[in-house]
Amino acid sequence: MFDYVIPTPIRPSLPVKGTSERFPVRRIYCIGRNYADHAIEMGHDPEKEPPFFFQKNAENIDSSGEFPYPPETNDVHFEVEMIVALKRGGANIEIADAMQLVFGYGVGLDMTRRDLQGEMKKLGRPWEIGKAFERSAPMGPLVSINETGQLDSGVISLSVDGTVRQNGDLNQMIWKVPEQIAYLSRFYDIAAGDLIMSGTPAGVGSIHLGEVMECRVDGLDPFVVKVV
Ligand code: MN
Repeated sequence: MFDYVIPTPIRPSLPVKGTSERFPVRRIYCIGRNYADHAIEMGHDPEKEPPFFFQKNAENIDSSGEFPYPPETNDVHFEVEMIVALKRGGANIEIADAMQLVFGYGVGLDMTRRDLQGEMKKLGRPWEIGKAFERSAPMGPLVSINETGQLDSGVISLSVDGTVRQNGDLNQMIWKVPEQIAYLSRFYDIAAGDLIMSGTPAGVGSIHLGEVMECRVDGLDPFVVKVV
């Protein structure tokens, strides 16, 4: 195709359970305040808002099981989320057709520099500095939907050093996964390789050096991340 003037950056990817092949990642769309009890804890009324999304970079993914405490912050929060991986894309997808685009699921973390995010909110500025930083998207392996079936109910939880901190149910999502896909596809050309982080239940909080986070979604293997 082309010769490049510098070495081409490596395409970020995720392992796929039960295979040596990997899932190449394009964009990461993250929905905000998608569980009512989390919206309330963040000081918002969950009933009145249409969905909104922000993005992380594919390069922010990390599957190592270690999360280095990031720079320029004193308040890093965990947010456990179910990941939805797309094998096809399009524009103006109907809700009824949306699940045909789904390759599979994973469990991961939307790590957040909450202090920086809060400052940006106050100033009416973009959130990237709080959300899209190095290794801010720890994620476990993806699992094909052929193995899991559709995951729209079941426990989503996170414990820190064995103490449960977040504990919700996938059925508490305000905007369900097919609705998220359909909504995104009105505004963007979504495509194979895109990931959607589908929101976090209540209980988000700070992590500290040495702590171990265990992330669970019913139907998927637990994903364990240590803060280093
Ligand atoms: Mn989140």
